[in-house]
Amino acid sequence: MKITIDLPKWAEERDIFIMAGMELVAVKRAYSNDVYVKDVRCQKCGKCCEDVPENHFYEKGIDGHCIKLENGRCVEREYKPFACCVGEKTIKECLITYRKQ
Ligand code: SF4
Ligand code: SF4
Repeated sequence: MKITIDLPKWAEERDIFIMAGMELVAVKRAYSNDVYVKDVRCQKCGKCCEDVPENHFYEKGIDGHCIKLENGRCVEREYKPFACCVGEKTIKECLITYRKQ
């Protein structure tokens, strides 16, 4: 599938996220012309939901996990916070990969 769009100049200074429903499928960072498209999808390992920061959206469980993580899955499903959807790949264990277009 190919999408071609003209964006306004002001959008250059913002990150551009292309979502497939709640899943990030492509990203273009602010001031960059490079677009990265997701090659390998989330493997639902739950690693990014472990050891969440103190200022996380939801409470931290006793073990440091987000309290919304149950059996390695987010119970919020399609209502999980936008930052969780676009913040993937922020830990080294994440299995998602992107390829530059
Ligand atoms: S809200 Fe869901 S996706 Fe976000 S950190 Fe918690 S369990 Fe993970
Ligand atoms: S660490 Fe990466 S692969 Fe694992 S659940 Fe989080 S986003 Fe998915």
